[in-house]
Amino acid sequence: MPAPFKGPLQPTVYRFKLGGFEVATLLDAKAIREGLHPTYGANASADEVQAVARANNIDPQRIEHPNIPTLVNTGKELILFDTGNGALPKEYEQLRGRLPQGQTVERLAELGHKPEDIDIVVTTHGHPDHIGGLVEGGKPVFPNARYVFGAAEFDFWKRGENVSEARKFNRELFVTICTPLAERATFIKPGETVASGITAVDAAGHSPGLMAFHIESDGKRFMVTADTVTHFVMAVQKPEWFFQMDDDKDKAVATRKRILDMLATDKVFVASFHMPFPGIGWIDRSQGSYRWVPVSYQMNL
Ligand SMILES: [Zn+2]
Repeated sequence: MPAPFKGPLQPTVYRFKLGGFEVATLLDAKAIREGLHPTYGANASADEVQAVARANNIDPQRIEHPNIPTLVNTGKELILFDTGNGALPKEYEQLRGRLPQGQTVERLAELGHKPEDIDIVVTTHGHPDHIGGLVEGGKPVFPNARYVFGAAEFDFWKRGENVSEARKFNRELFVTICTPLAERATFIKPGETVASGITAVDAAGHSPGLMAFHIESDGKRFMVTADTVTHFVMAVQKPEWFFQMDDDKDKAVATRKRILDMLATDKVFVASFHMPFPGIGWIDRSQGSYRWVPVSYQMNL
């Protein structure tokens, strides 16, 4: 009897030690999308975008777009950075193709954690793939957590002024999901801390108040870059190319360049929400630009 095919199987959780902290990344969901161009590089030609894709051995049309929340155990508190797609409220079900059901809770179980174990949920910004998993059926998914939001980001979505047509649904979703959590939330500005060793960094552009986070323990450092860099080739090798989901395209480009320069100069270890799983690695300088160097065995030594 020949062995039956079992279907593709790919890793979904990854955990390592960093200084005195334990860090894990988890695969919440993956969307497969059409149209590498103009999703990336609307300010370049389709030919240029597709040539860069081919040079990097990736499909010139289709994109895998994963969501990878980061979990940090400081030894005192268990902190989750972003919650993935979650189960969107019924009225948003037409978005399911773009935002498949999130699996953050299942991945946390694989890592040995229950939702009630999470002490702090940090939301880097208010886009659906980052807030969707905060609430299910009108109830908080992480019942014991306190919440951390960027003050500018929360304020922008709450006030609802200058929201682009394409983000109107996002504003409604934010109000539905996040505003009821405000009474258990703290609102921080860049430079302020979530917990000892975890500091917010201004990364506005992709969204009005996007925050990245520096995380440091016992002299070891890494950065949760959230959505400053959303593709391991397009956004890294061509940071000047527009990304369709960046709310302020020019500002996002400037932020991307600033953060990439810092990551390459300081050789900072990176956890990035939309990179290929496990979403961790480094940014190196290469050919007048940058390249993504995914983790190999560095965390195992
Ligand atoms: Zn995102």
